[in-house]
Amino acid sequence: LAQAPERPSVDLAATLGQGDAFDRVLIRAGVSRRDASAASALIAQTVDPGAIPAGTRIALTLGRRADRTVARPLDSLAVRARFDLDVSLHRTAAGLAMTRTAIAVDRTPLRIQGLAGSSLYRSMRAAGVSAKAVETYIKAIATRLSIGRDVSATDRFDLIVARERAATGETRIGALLFAGIDQGRRTLQLVRFAPTTTTDPQADPDAVEGDDAGRGGWFDANGQTERRAVSGMPVIGRITSGFGLRVHPLLGFTRMHKGLDIGAPRGAPIHAMTDGVVSFAGRTGGYGNFVKLVHGGGLASGYGHMSRIAVASGTRVRQGQVIGYVGSTGMSTGPHLHWEVWRNGGAINPRSVSLASAAQLSGPALRAFKARVARLLAVRTGT
Ligand SMILES: [Zn+2]
Repeated sequence: LAQAPERPSVDLAATLGQGDAFDRVLIRAGVSRRDASAASALIAQTVDPGAIPAGTRIALTLGRRADRTVARPLDSLAVRARFDLDVSLHRTAAGLAMTRTAIAVDRTPLRIQGLAGSSLYRSMRAAGVSAKAVETYIKAIATRLSIGRDVSATDRFDLIVARERAATGETRIGALLFAGIDQGRRTLQLVRFAPTTTTDPQADPDAVEGDDAGRGGWFDANGQTERRAVSGMPVIGRITSGFGLRVHPLLGFTRMHKGLDIGAPRGAPIHAMTDGVVSFAGRTGGYGNFVKLVHGGGLASGYGHMSRIAVASGTRVRQGQVIGYVGSTGMSTGPHLHWEVWRNGGAINPRSVSLASAAQLSGPALRAFKARVARLLAVRTGT
């Protein structure tokens, strides 16, 4: 049977999908199972193949084969395995061999300043700040002042976010590292800092990747004192039912409402009111999807009717960490958060809680913090 001769090699590109296994992508592209698993195993010696971001392109060259009944051999493969690393595989007499090429990455953070204007949120977004960084900034600043009452249009915001620029031209932006506001008569400067030794000492605080909770709390650059206070509510919304006796909307009779109801859109993030440990996360009766946190000083807090729970029982959470999302599960008439706070086991009005506590840095932690502040404040705007 006459057949046209095959091309000696084929170049193609595969793209990693969300949740795709590295070897599955190769097999879909026509690589043999054997070559695909060998390539995947080699890559795994350098990076976790599952950690390569979705959307990453894999360039492949498939070589000459003996006949059309078998898959072409994998001759070479090239992939951006990490933001700072190219990996390529090529076939040798002994099988596939790997070459790693580091990509230089500049980690100078990005500083953005501007006028607060009539809306701090809109002004910051217009200046190019991501929605997530704006949210983090406002939450940080709100631990020290009231955004609605204390911020005026002539105030200047000042923030620094983690940024990485690869020599190959790509840029990626990460977490908020510094949140400041210049109000003329006074300046507030907050620096994110992890004073505890539990933090990996090798971790670069300017890195874009990394555990956000591990970045630590917000410390005043001047006073070197972290003051924590419940700035407001665990979710942005309005109080639809207060603490105390009320006629229950579903049951129709008067009974004690042991918490605050905060009306908010379904899916709005719910934040831990302060640091704590998750003592319960699951479905329970009228509370629906419910999370209970135990804090220090005999204090505990509960969050009900969630559409989705974002933490597991037994884990530690930081103040402001997202623990779930607003919903209407359990005995509820519409999307809202039912927020309860207990002191020594008894329900108290969440609005009465003052969680002011101060942590003074000293010794090596204070020296490390001062160096961190100096380094961040030396970052120039917009470069
Ligand atoms: Zn309620």
